[in-house]
Amino acid sequence: MGRIQSSTLKELLHRILKTQKDEIGCETCFESLDRFVELELDGKDSEQALPLVKRHLEMCTGCGEEYQALLAALESWQAGDSAH
Ligand SMILES: [Zn+2]
Repeated sequence: MGRIQSSTLKELLHRILKTQKDEIGCETCFESLDRFVELELDGKDSEQALPLVKRHLEMCTGCGEEYQALLAALESWQAGDSAH
């Protein structure tokens, strides 16, 4: 007890995360989310451009909701913008 250093824990955590090489975390997903949504709105193949983001959104409820909210917000913003 009390002998595990935080650096050891970090190392362990890093190793666990590394085993899922093809998967990205919420942070990485979030960083690419605006780009992903932009591609969607442009009618481009967002899944092909950012496959890992797409996969993460399907797996992660939190990011999926974030994505839906961002998409909805941008869509209404665009609709309002083009009405000028
Ligand atoms: Zn996530």
